[in-house]
Amino acid sequence: MALYYTGATAVLMAIVFVVIFVTVDRVVYRHFDEELRHEVAETLSEAHVQRHDVCEFGSLKEIGLDEARDGRLNDPHRIRNVADIDPEFVQLVDSKGRVVSKTANLARNVLSFAPSYSGVRFFNTSLGASTMRQVQVPLVDRQGAIEGYLIVAVPLKSAMIVLRDLKYIVMASFPAIIILLFGLTRLIAGRSIRPVEEIISMAETINQESLERRIVLPRQQDELYRLGSTINGLLDRLQHAFQREKRFTADASHELRTPLAVVKGTLDVLVRKPREVDHYEERIRYCLNELNRMARLIDQLLMLARYENGDMNPQIVTIGLAGMLKTVTDRMEPMAVAKNISTRIERISSEAVAVDPAMLEIMLENLISNSIKYSPEGSIVEIRGGIRDGQQVCTIMDYGIGIPEEKLPYVFDRFYRVDESRSSNTGGFGLGLSIVRRLADLQGISVSVMSRERHGTTFMLTFPPVPN
Ligand code: ADP
Repeated sequence: MALYYTGATAVLMAIVFVVIFVTVDRVVYRHFDEELRHEVAETLSEAHVQRHDVCEFGSLKEIGLDEARDGRLNDPHRIRNVADIDPEFVQLVDSKGRVVSKTANLARNVLSFAPSYSGVRFFNTSLGASTMRQVQVPLVDRQGAIEGYLIVAVPLKSAMIVLRDLKYIVMASFPAIIILLFGLTRLIAGRSIRPVEEIISMAETINQESLERRIVLPRQQDELYRLGSTINGLLDRLQHAFQREKRFTADASHELRTPLAVVKGTLDVLVRKPREVDHYEERIRYCLNELNRMARLIDQLLMLARYENGDMNPQIVTIGLAGMLKTVTDRMEPMAVAKNISTRIERISSEAVAVDPAMLEIMLENLISNSIKYSPEGSIVEIRGGIRDGQQVCTIMDYGIGIPEEKLPYVFDRFYRVDESRSSNTGGFGLGLSIVRRLADLQGISVSVMSRERHGTTFMLTFPPVPN
């Protein structure tokens, strides 16, 4: 992270430094060129017409290339002025580049002449050991022929020092700044990443045995706080699911162990000594009954396991509810008759419902058998169908023992029995309603329950709209 950041900053800084250097360089040269231009204009102030790139004269003689011009160029006041602070060198050459005159400060030196430049040209040259900025201006006569050139030069020394110093400063400060920046970025990045590392190391220690551990949240409610609390939320859900699975396995083995122990105990006692045939028959029937219970439990467990694995795919079709209810109640008839209970199907409309018929059958069987199981002898179970709030509903109502209000929210939980004694009398495992809820969810059916203790219970199924 620090490396990427420093790399990007280094590139940016290099660009900024180059821009600064080029700009200063240009400004300095522009300043010198301005000065040279001014000097040329001053020198030629007596020289009449000026076109934009050349100075036009009658002839070199006419503009006083001889004594008068020499005199002006060699004006001691002028030389003193420039020589002190900013010496300027002026030189006149003819069209062949031969020196016609020059300022005294040039002494034996001669400014360089570039014959290839026909227009006004600014360029760098050297005079002795020092670098000069020089302008070369062609002088033309009235016919337009080049008679000679005016050359003005100023030393670049101070500017060169400034530019050179600037270059050194930039070159020295650039790596220093980059190294400093890299160190600082590493330090800051290290500090800001530390909480992430703490979260990682804490998360690494959490396994199946320590699912109750949680990540310590930072004080600031920033992104790391959100990351930590999201992981904690995930751990909450995992722990919950894990505990549910553990409880389910424990409950299932407990439920299976009981009938197995009963069958084993009964058979152990039976084989100890010979008995009457009637006794054998009665004990075997008892064992068969227990084995049937076990088979039912295993069926229910398998169904729940299939649901949990997501193996159950409802095949939704449109069917008439009345026909389905008739089939289920007919199948429940022996159970109802055994308790002298009458099951009544009332006011079922001919409307269709969109369901998986096999799943709905299991749901209705569980609900109706519960109503019969938890109703007193001679009672009635009423089954109704109709439209409520524009939706197809079906209610299964009994006048049985009812469910205490505080226990209603739990009746759909796995292995939940309102009261162990009343359920074990009826052979229930507390799985029937949890299967009803799961099958209903798969088909988009909602299940609700209303109950009053000792008055009765009503289960209501609300079906999803039938697709057109
Ligand atoms: P079980 O197999 O024990 O009946 P269920 O999941 O079907 O398990 O029901 C859960 C609990 O809800 C039962 O133990 C029972 O006490 C209560 N219950 C279910 N239906 C009724 C009902 N119609 N009337 C009274 N209690 C009921």
